[in-house]
Amino acid sequence: MVVLKTTREISAMRNAGRVSQKALRLAGEAVEPGVSTLEIDRIVRKYIEEQGATPSFLGYGGFPASACISVNNVVIHGIPSKSKILKKGDIVSIDVGACLQGYHGDNAWTFACGDISKEAQALLDTTREALFEGIKKAVAGNRIGDIGSAVQRYVEPRSYSVVRDFVGHGVGAKLHEDPSVPNYGTPGRGVRLLPGMTIAIEPMINAGNHEVKVLSDGWTTVTADGSLSAHFEHTIAITSDGPVIMTLP
Ligand code: MG
Repeated sequence: MVVLKTTREISAMRNAGRVSQKALRLAGEAVEPGVSTLEIDRIVRKYIEEQGATPSFLGYGGFPASACISVNNVVIHGIPSKSKILKKGDIVSIDVGACLQGYHGDNAWTFACGDISKEAQALLDTTREALFEGIKKAVAGNRIGDIGSAVQRYVEPRSYSVVRDFVGHGVGAKLHEDPSVPNYGTPGRGVRLLPGMTIAIEPMINAGNHEVKVLSDGWTTVTADGSLSAHFEHTIAITSDGPVIMTLP
């Protein structure tokens, strides 16, 4: 069931979005060679809690940390660890959610650790642009398939692949609500977008093929072919004035 939000709820979500965005930005600023992913997780948790919010991911389905930190071939759901030390050339996808006064904000960004290869930078640029191509289609009257197809049509001609096994989602009082928001699809198909819908659009794009596998920890999701993967996400409200990005400063 898709839950439509009132204007008041959307402004509450914008506050949650602001906290999750700032936590993500602080995490990104901490990305540098020699830093462990656990240290970054601590920065995220501390900031969110200082704002009177709670980390959305901590304990969600048993997830043991506040941020998902996914390096290089890890697509999503990387578990922060003291022993995972970042090195120059890594690409580091960080996904952060914060719950403030009953509403969640959810966002992700892939950061470069020092100088990265041209190939890695191109993957980051393409994935980020694909997110904004999707956001442009998050317009009342369009359908979910318009978002996914916009992402897919931006990414695939550049010879990257869209991850199929994980998708975006509605977000609000719950971290994951209906509808699912795939990063692939057919224009004009799927759930119709209405003012008051709040969704997380989050392309996960692989440099190789689209297949992924989940490691034995039950979380860490890697590309099946070992290729690099990038992930960018914003929480969006669909309004009568067009898409509004909630996860902004
Ligand atoms: Mg999400």
